[in-house]
Amino acid sequence: MERLTAIGQKQPIGLDYIEVLSEIICMLIECQRCSQGYVRAMRVRSTNILLWVCEECEATWTSQDEVSASNFEDYGTLMAGIGRSCLWSELEPQ
Ligand SMILES: [Zn+2]
Repeated sequence: MERLTAIGQKQPIGLDYIEVLSEIICMLIECQRCSQGYVRAMRVRSTNILLWVCEECEATWTSQDEVSASNFEDYGTLMAGIGRSCLWSELEPQ
């Protein structure tokens, strides 16, 4: 995240950092499928769509509201379905 700060404007850097950190923590959802990993919001670089992906078992959801044990898709299958490579490098953590 890039922020332009005007000269003379005082930015409490420590406070900013905590805000960003708590945002990241809020986005971590324990995976209901494997109970080992965390589901993280990821943006597919080439299409800009958001996915919620478990880093442990690669279960994938297309909406945060849908994250549950039963209705996941496999990351590789989903990416193949939209004609994308299933490399992790396609994803950018949000
Ligand atoms: Zn999982």
